[in-house]
Amino acid sequence: MHAMVLHALRTPLEWTELPDPRPGPGQIRLQVSVCGVCRTDLHVVDGELPDPRIPIIPGHEIVGRIDLVGDGVDGLRVGERVGVPWLGHTDGVCPYCVSGEENLCDHPLFTGFTRDGGYASHVIADARFTFPLGDVGEDSALAPLLCAGLIGWRSLRIAGAAKRIGMYGFGAAAHILAQVAVWQGRQVYAFTRPGDATSKAFACSLGAVWAGGSDDTPPAPLDAAIIFAPVGDLVPAALRAVRKGGRVVCAGIHMSDIPSFPYSILWEERQLVSVANLTRLDGLDFLTLAPSIGIKVKTTPYALKDANQALADLRAGRFEGAAVLTI
Ligand SMILES: [Zn+2]
Ligand SMILES: [Zn+2]
Repeated sequence: MHAMVLHALRTPLEWTELPDPRPGPGQIRLQVSVCGVCRTDLHVVDGELPDPRIPIIPGHEIVGRIDLVGDGVDGLRVGERVGVPWLGHTDGVCPYCVSGEENLCDHPLFTGFTRDGGYASHVIADARFTFPLGDVGEDSALAPLLCAGLIGWRSLRIAGAAKRIGMYGFGAAAHILAQVAVWQGRQVYAFTRPGDATSKAFACSLGAVWAGGSDDTPPAPLDAAIIFAPVGDLVPAALRAVRKGGRVVCAGIHMSDIPSFPYSILWEERQLVSVANLTRLDGLDFLTLAPSIGIKVKTTPYALKDANQALADLRAGRFEGAAVLTI
């Protein structure tokens, strides 16, 4: 097999030939077709997440077909199309797993971070943590649903029954979630980098009722806001934008430091919460619903060998929607 491997933090990924992996008990091997590029991959490369495994093959929005099945795997067959998300394994026995909060497991493995991911021709996955994808829809349109869509879905659920919902940072996740929220009958308020007219127009084309800079005040107080951009300065901005009792959800795995802010913008029962990882139930709920929403995923394709360019373009905000590696 071949892969783009992170051999040391804060260095470019390197094209590497590796022995073909074999699935162990309970595992499957996929021939990867497409792997989405997520902002978390940048945090992995930049060494911003605790306890990385190095070397590592990044990538956790994987779509491929099963080409080997290990012992003890039920219900999956060679040739079937499946998706592999960020949550790659849990212990199943810790207090969080037992109480239905496997996203908070004490001993998890994360695809593309603490177990090898999909910037590769092949990947080994724990069969229990894969999602059958059926045969409807293109691989490249499905890949971004596996993290941008899923984490966004969990964030939207945690935002509650908000009618007026703000989204800070209009990248891969928000461009999917805006369509879900509009489909649910909500009003989407999109906050982009100040002066980014292209992203504002993109948000409005997807049904946002208003688009402005992250330093703008929305025309009406929001019921909730989700922060997708990894920018701590957005936390007080979002708290100022939500109404009394409103909720601000931080959806990213990493954020720059949050500046101090006056208690008055949290007062009146505003809530500030974070979202961590996903549960398999989130995935099943979202992937079951997604086809009926008719989500249009905007993708920019790159060859696997151009993964470093895809990451650089993501960092610089050079494309709309989601980047995907075609293998
Ligand atoms: Zn656990
Ligand atoms: Zn991700």
